[in-house]
Amino acid sequence: MSTRKVDEKLIDKALSLVDKARKIVITCHISPDGDAVGSSLALCHFLRQRGKQATVVVPNAFPAFLKWMDGARDILVYKDNRYNAVGAIREADLIFSLDYNELKRLGADMETSVRRQRCKRIQIDHHLDPEPFADVSLSYPQMSSACLLLFYVLSRWNGGAPLSRNIAECLYTGMMTDTGAFTYNSNAPDIYTVISELIKVGIDKDAIYDKVFNAYSADRFRMLGYCLTKMEILPEYGTAIIAMSRDELNRFNYRKGDTEGFVNQPLAIKGIFFSAFLKEEDSLIKISLRSQGDFPTNIVARDNFNGGGHLNASGGEAPGETLENVVRRLKEALPKYKNYFDAEIEKLSHD
Ligand code: 5GP
Ligand code: MN
Repeated sequence: MSTRKVDEKLIDKALSLVDKARKIVITCHISPDGDAVGSSLALCHFLRQRGKQATVVVPNAFPAFLKWMDGARDILVYKDNRYNAVGAIREADLIFSLDYNELKRLGADMETSVRRQRCKRIQIDHHLDPEPFADVSLSYPQMSSACLLLFYVLSRWNGGAPLSRNIAECLYTGMMTDTGAFTYNSNAPDIYTVISELIKVGIDKDAIYDKVFNAYSADRFRMLGYCLTKMEILPEYGTAIIAMSRDELNRFNYRKGDTEGFVNQPLAIKGIFFSAFLKEEDSLIKISLRSQGDFPTNIVARDNFNGGGHLNASGGEAPGETLENVVRRLKEALPKYKNYFDAEIEKLSHD
């Protein structure tokens, strides 16, 4: 399998750091998603197969629908198991950063621990604007997932030999979740070449879909219904907004990850190409943005919510603000993006 999509010299340089390391910590972004957890576990399996002592440390809890993955139970959650997580980071002679561009995406506490550790660093990521913190940075924003990028890296490290099935399952999961099961960001032909390789080593892609996407609790499914009912539509902007307060989340026994994917739902409405989902967390409002076409959610996230991400999927935060205020701010900001909205509305008029 060709790995020329990724700079082979950099892949080899990264491998030389791996070969010199003994204790390796793998990290991913806060509120880990399928791509973050999938890439972290795939890399962990590979490193362990190579005889390394590898540990995955994630900033906070990850959704239950990812717990079936091989190795998920051994993941150290920094927020819940700080003592062991800090211990692993302090012993690491190599730290991997997967699926995030800046160390602040670890959340303040884990960022401090990771920055403090004097060791080598390797970044494998597909977000724009990588912070230059790594000794080797494999940053490929044109890739649809960190898992796709990691496939090329691991394949080369493995001398082109097939990867093991547990690694393939983890990689497929991230490729699938970061593209909405190959419904957006998914026109690159090599995605399907890679999937074909993964199927050859024995993954059951239909079973993986089922485990990830058909895993709603009744509470979670009812909460989705509630969200869709209270959704606000702004037709002149092709925009849908859903905002959930702490009280509303509690009504449905909210658990971490329960609202994952809700932000995509309004895009199923004809004429809606920008969707915002806001929820009240402990001391901040978390904002998730999604779009179809060329509407740049990452610009909205950066300008208004100190965030960022990809063109069609991004997010940000508003600390210490009320939910109502953040919703109002978002609505008031929309006219600033009139050119982008008009361009999308113009395209829709041709459909
Ligand atoms: P989600 O809406 O699933 O939380 O995030 C979607 C994408 O937006 C993430 O993969 C990440 O690229 C980006 N993102 C989400 N929240 C933040 C944030 O607070 N800061 C930055 N820079 N990016 C974010
Ligand atoms: Mn990703």
